[in-house]
Amino acid sequence: MKVAGKYLLLILMAAALQQCSYSQNKSTINTVKMDSAKKNNPVYSNTDTSKVALADDEWKKILPGDIYSVARLKGTERPYTSKFESFFDKGTYYCAVCGNALFKSDTKFESGCGWPSFYEPISKTSIIYAPDNAYGMTRTEVMCGRCKSHLGHVFDDGPPPTGLRYCINGVVLDFAKAKEAEKKYNEKEGEKPKG
Ligand SMILES: [Zn+2]
Repeated sequence: MKVAGKYLLLILMAAALQQCSYSQNKSTINTVKMDSAKKNNPVYSNTDTSKVALADDEWKKILPGDIYSVARLKGTERPYTSKFESFFDKGTYYCAVCGNALFKSDTKFESGCGWPSFYEPISKTSIIYAPDNAYGMTRTEVMCGRCKSHLGHVFDDGPPPTGLRYCINGVVLDFAKAKEAEKKYNEKEGEKPKG
């Protein structure tokens, strides 16, 4: 009986430890999910600008469900649900489907419309435009210039200098912090006299 009790205690402790390590890992689940999503994605690249054209069933295999439904089925994420909606760190926004650079954080603005909004794409070729007359509205759809994934729409009620508002689904955006700015900031901090 005594031995059995010891074993039971060991098992309970092991179970408790596992639970503990699980809760510690919880905070990193999102980034892990992101990285593994990219690992399974053979077309993802921040440097390769060659066009990507895959069949729908191939995209379905590669992309996580939430990205697939917006990017390939032209869905719309619920307003005010994107982590990028009120996010203003300095850096570059990429297409979450193929890694193509789309927007700079300098052109992001608070539009209040519920989706990440920009007034200008990073370059003329980074975005493709198409008329969209769905739902009885006349809108201009914007797609990724490299993989033709649906990103959102562009409207002409944006701020200067362009007067445009690129209303983009946050789920199809990837963000990379500006490394140079960060480095400079850290150097400055290091230069400060100590004490
Ligand atoms: Zn893309």
